[in-house]
Amino acid sequence: MSLLELKNISKIYGDLKALDNVSIHVDKGEWVAIMGPSGSGKSTMMNIIGCMDKPTLGEVLLDGVDIARESSKKLTDIRRDKIGLIFQQFHMVNYLTAVENVMVSQYYHSMPDEQEALEALGRVGLRERAHHLPSQLSGGEQQRVCVARALINHPELILADEPTGNLDEANENIVLDLFARLHAEGTTLIVVTHDPEVAEAAQRTIVLEHGKVAREVINENFDEQQ
Ligand code: ADP
Ligand code: ADP
Repeated sequence: MSLLELKNISKIYGDLKALDNVSIHVDKGEWVAIMGPSGSGKSTMMNIIGCMDKPTLGEVLLDGVDIARESSKKLTDIRRDKIGLIFQQFHMVNYLTAVENVMVSQYYHSMPDEQEALEALGRVGLRERAHHLPSQLSGGEQQRVCVARALINHPELILADEPTGNLDEANENIVLDLFARLHAEGTTLIVVTHDPEVAEAAQRTIVLEHGKVAREVINENFDEQQ
């Protein structure tokens, strides 16, 4: 069953087509990687799926609802309700500790619960760092706090843009193991990456070029990896 369907979407800036008649679907529970050179439209597509931007043309069905037609207010509600974002531009609040930063996301969804927030930090290996400020954390640790923040509300869909971009090998493995567990729990994952290792962890890779889907590659070894 489809969780997400992009139907003939285009995003046009003047005479530039950042996305040019793109159609893709993602099933519930699927784990998909998005690759493509810089400027191919990856961020534009993630911003549209993440309810932060709208296409110029086309439909974006999330759980059957066309989010390209919703008001900005409704889009914020849908995002808080269904989507966990791991985006580089979502920085931590610098005067709040790691656990407080996670609790901010809970606050927008339901009620902050410190115990749950601490458990989410535990899932990314940061239980011992919970009461540190961002300035006391390394870049990789801050990025893992953002992962904990994204999964705290048990979103149906996790959207990640270069989630392992600043991470060393050990931290990258922590995040990939966590994605595998989220996948096993039924979460849908869409991950933009330049890293072939991160793409190979997914079930399917969609490659964008010049705003179009250039090809899709199924990972034949996916079941054996699990
Ligand atoms: P990627 O994430 O793959 O690097 P982007 O989605 O950021 O690609 O960009 C796709 C194309 O759209 C690029 O040519 C970029 O310059 C252009 N673009 C993106 N956002 C804007 C904008 N707000 N105004 C004008 N052009 C934009
Ligand atoms: P604003 O009030 O500036 O529009 P939001 O209310 O959208 O910001 O988000 C508040 C904080 O929660 C932001 O710092 C952002 O990092 C985080 N956040 C928002 N939406 C999500 C999400 N879907 N997943 C994870 N974190 C989110």
